[in-house]
Amino acid sequence: MTDQTIGADIQLLVPRLPSAGVIAPYIEEIDRTHVYSNGGPLERRLCSELGAFFSDRTGSRAPAVTTVTNGTIAIELALRTYVAAAGGEVILPSYTFIASAQAVSNAGFTPVFVDVDEDTLAVTPAIVRRAIEVRGKPAAVLVVSPFGGPIRFDEWDDLETTTGVPVIFDAAAAALSISKVGRQPVCLSLHATKILGAGEGGAVISTDEALVVAIRSMTNFGFDPAGTRLSLRRGGNYRISEYAAAVGLASLTEIAHKRRTLFARFEEFRDRLAGSRIQFQEGFGSEWITATMNLILPDEAVEPVLARFSRDGIPWRRWYGDGCHTHPIFAESPCLSSLDVTKRVARRTIGVPFHEFLTDSQIERICAACTGW
Ligand SMILES: *Cc1c(COP(=O)(O)O)cnc(C)c1O
Repeated sequence: MTDQTIGADIQLLVPRLPSAGVIAPYIEEIDRTHVYSNGGPLERRLCSELGAFFSDRTGSRAPAVTTVTNGTIAIELALRTYVAAAGGEVILPSYTFIASAQAVSNAGFTPVFVDVDEDTLAVTPAIVRRAIEVRGKPAAVLVVSPFGGPIRFDEWDDLETTTGVPVIFDAAAAALSISKVGRQPVCLSLHATKILGAGEGGAVISTDEALVVAIRSMTNFGFDPAGTRLSLRRGGNYRISEYAAAVGLASLTEIAHKRRTLFARFEEFRDRLAGSRIQFQEGFGSEWITATMNLILPDEAVEPVLARFSRDGIPWRRWYGDGCHTHPIFAESPCLSSLDVTKRVARRTIGVPFHEFLTDSQIERICAACTGW
């Protein structure tokens, strides 16, 4: 690897979007069409290729897709269209990236935090059902894919059917773990640091075509999709440019390669940590992968391992911090339990260096630092 910016130090995360040469043919199309935004040909192609990508992955018919400015806006617009209530409470796990809670607030709802399951790091229908018993029905539930991990779509579909509470999926980092797409909106981020990147960007995916058409219209000032130039609903400018679509399309051509490369990097970790008591998220590196990797440490290993990381110059991060409820801006938001599991998993779940440029010897250094504590 000759990239000067990467250097010899171990980096926590090194995103890699397609190189200039891979993007160039798409940019040349822009030169020819003189269309730079507003749902141009590249953006429309990105929507249809994403639809094909998810139908290939899920074995179902191609869902409807619209791009949006970013993953946070995807959640906001999904909440504003899929949820009948214009306000009220939205249940979500505290253990998520802060964007989930910000999106709930920005869409005019009150975030209500719940705990997660200790094994999957995800909120479960059982947790939500208990919350409904205690507090009554919320306006919606925002189900988060923890660090891009799998979501049990069928169980959530069942929860929505049996309780009538609409479900929205924050699958921001989950492009390679989505196993099903139904009518509930699936919100994706195309940020550079996610597994499928466009620099900035996002998408909403659903089999409900009318829902996706409505969200798409909101990205363009609520203009009538039939082209009357009349604004039919509240909206704004939540579009992506043709340049971002170009990068997104180029990324799709490389995603299979990226997946293989990261699977292979993970194998180095898995082999070196085999027999230790360190765990990974279930199925990580064998069934699915994403652009970050967490070690799940035994409780008593947290302090010694982090001390060794700082001694050895190995960067690490708790990607979700201690949960959204610990951020000052959400300090007043209701929590539906003591969030004891969140506290435990937040402490033990440590993001470690993981990217395509990690060398075997760097992985050896990282693994050496976290074994034999
Ligand atoms: C990245 C991320 C988001 C936000 O996506 P952006 O494209 O950065 O706005 C939301 N939720 C989760 C869980 C994320 O990881």
